[in-house]
Amino acid sequence: AFADALKSIARRSDVKACVEADPVLYPLLRRAAARFVTGDARQDGLTIARNLSSLGYRVSLEYIGENTTDAEECNAAAREMEELIGDLGSSRMLARVSFDLSHIGLRIDDELAYENLMKLAATADKSGIELFISMEESAKTDEILAIHERAARIHSHVGITLQAHLHRSEEDARKLPANSLVRVVKGAYKEPDTIALPRSGKLNERFLTITEQCVRNGHRVSFATHDESLIEEAIARKWPASGRFEFETLYGIKPDLSAGLQEKGQPVRIYLTYGREWYLYLCHRIAEFPPNLYRAVTAMIGG
Ligand code: FAD
Repeated sequence: AFADALKSIARRSDVKACVEADPVLYPLLRRAAARFVTGDARQDGLTIARNLSSLGYRVSLEYIGENTTDAEECNAAAREMEELIGDLGSSRMLARVSFDLSHIGLRIDDELAYENLMKLAATADKSGIELFISMEESAKTDEILAIHERAARIHSHVGITLQAHLHRSEEDARKLPANSLVRVVKGAYKEPDTIALPRSGKLNERFLTITEQCVRNGHRVSFATHDESLIEEAIARKWPASGRFEFETLYGIKPDLSAGLQEKGQPVRIYLTYGREWYLYLCHRIAEFPPNLYRAVTAMIGG
């Protein structure tokens, strides 16, 4: 309930406008977000990406945004992503661009999202960059999977995220096109028990089952979690040795865990975000892990 309330408050444009206009609150929240978000501008993301890349990490970049309901804003977001792809393409980093389909049109019309995706995929093809579709709340899963399937038939470098918490995901993993790019996550959205598992040992078992299936089917897998028991199990099962497997963590969350894996020679990708919608991203991270609220307040008061 807390997670849902926080996200719906964050999405309200009147609340956002109030926060943005508040000369005291806005900079304080911005400081709290700095742990998770590289900055407002593409250059902020690229600078951190270059630093991480020089340390041997792969990177993902996201221009933050979701649920955009204005077609011109969707197209503007897609143009920003094209610029990002262009910059990454000339940087020689092992990079990918991640995004929500609802940022580039899904809330208006599936075809708008598909068309923007195809434009991005064509640019990414030329630049040698992978694209990754994030998974949103369960009401959108069918549409997102259908758009991915259409795009991946033409562009094999368009990846998809599966949420292990959804009961349907084992079946969705089975149906992925051959040679897919897939990211497995637990799931960040609050869903009813009828369609999803809460954080639990059962969820971790399902996370491993889905990954095992993807590895066996020859897909390239990003194992996206900060759960150390899952990471240990992946190493014990020798999945990274396949060369088609990597760990992926969010910037600002358990950096020592990522560094430890990296030092041991494990393939690690760090997921970075930038953009003026950092406020929404901060709320997602707090909703997913409420102790972050305490850390955010500490950061705001200068701790
Ligand atoms: P958890 O059991 O939630 O956490 C394990 C431990 O990690 C916690 O005990 C805590 O120590 C630490 N931790 C976890 N989250 C946080 C946090 N926010 N702040 C501080 N510490 C934390 N979800 C989607 O629904 N759709 C997506 O497309 C999506 N893409 C993602 C891409 C990447 C690369 C990653 C890493 C995650 C993504 N997520 C996505 C989020 C994911 O679903 C989980 O909500 C998130 O990864 C936390 O779950 P966990 O697997 O780390 O395990």
